[in-house]
Amino acid sequence: MPQTLHEIPPTPINTVNSANVKTGGWRAFKPVCDNSKCIKCWTCWKFCPDVSIAISEEGPVYDYDHCKGCGICAAECPVKCIQMVPENK
Ligand code: SF4
Ligand code: SF4
Repeated sequence: MPQTLHEIPPTPINTVNSANVKTGGWRAFKPVCDNSKCIKCWTCWKFCPDVSIAISEEGPVYDYDHCKGCGICAAECPVKCIQMVPENK
């Protein structure tokens, strides 16, 4: 068990701002919202762990460069207007 900082082995680190790392390429499913059913509660925005949802008057706007497709927004949406669709469709 390391006792000091200098005893901890080197680990990989990200040397650039995470905004520049486009993690959307990891995604197998992407969230798509039916804005006609959206009640603008912004639960999806609150729960997205990747800060990949922006608020607009029409409904959620996804940042597909960074959304990893975890599906949390779809699971938490109270009216279930977000569908996770296969990325290649
Ligand atoms: S959680 Fe669902 S209803 Fe609420 S803003 Fe997001 S998409 Fe719309
Ligand atoms: S699928 Fe996950 S990462 Fe993508 S917008 Fe929804 S909560 Fe955020």
